Amino acid sequence: ARSGRPLLEVEGLVKQFGGLRAVDNCSFVVPEGSITGLIGPNGSGKTTVFNLIDATFAADAGRITFDGERIERLAPWARAHRGIGRTYQITRLFGEMTVLENVVAAQRSFSWSQLGKIAVSGPEAAAAEELLEFVGMRAFRDQKAHALSYGQQKLVELAQVLMLDPKLIMLDEPAGGINPVLIERMGEMIRELNSYGKTFLIVEHNMPFVLDLCDPVHVLARGATMATGTPAQIQADPAVIDAYLGD
Ligand code: ADP
Repeated sequence: ARSGRPLLEVEGLVKQFGGLRAVDNCSFVVPEGSITGLIGPNGSGKTTVFNLIDATFAADAGRITFDGERIERLAPWARAHRGIGRTYQITRLFGEMTVLENVVAAQRSFSWSQLGKIAVSGPEAAAAEELLEFVGMRAFRDQKAHALSYGQQKLVELAQVLMLDPKLIMLDEPAGGINPVLIERMGEMIRELNSYGKTFLIVEHNMPFVLDLCDPVHVLARGATMATGTPAQIQADPAVIDAYLGD
């Protein structure tokens, strides 16, 4: 499914929090059809990069090009509409809503005031059920989200992202805090979705997971891209080992 054309291109991205440059001249490309990895030590700016790409924060400088269009000035909803979806390091499900309601709600700009008013019927609910089936969570559709394990919540969040049918799916630590069986399943689902044409950008600390799944891999250090390559190239790069993998 890889075309080699950049689906997402980040150039010279900068984000300052007070005196701290969390992202400092960061540049990288996510090729269309790839499963691209973004790794780096804690605090190197990975989550902030996600937050700049999806417009959670505005960048102080730099360009973000998505699908041939400059997007760094677009509002969050506009970027989502263009096909950028993401999950979060800390799950953001509505605990008092059911699994199915949570997935249906993902398709609307849901607000707390609508709590309890989600209609779980019609085409949206049918689509949500299909996606729950895909992630293996259909049997839990009527359970409240707060009753799920952390790993199950991650699966529901993946279904939520898929509701929007994004071209680019950004996952923040999909393998973090879940059991080995689920990590394997998560990897298989990502591969399957990739075979259907979805492009991924993945932040993850589990190195075996990243090195097995991702190509290319970009390495961040202090807010900047310090290395880019195949998993083999990254693993053999002395600077990367020194700054990160050697820990
Ligand atoms: P990573 O995801 O690689 O662990 P982050 O992007 O979360 O790194 O953080 C990069 C740096 O920016 C850290 O020093 C962090 O404390 C800081 N930071 C992140 N978000 C904020 C924020 N909203 N306000 C102030 N500082 C922040």
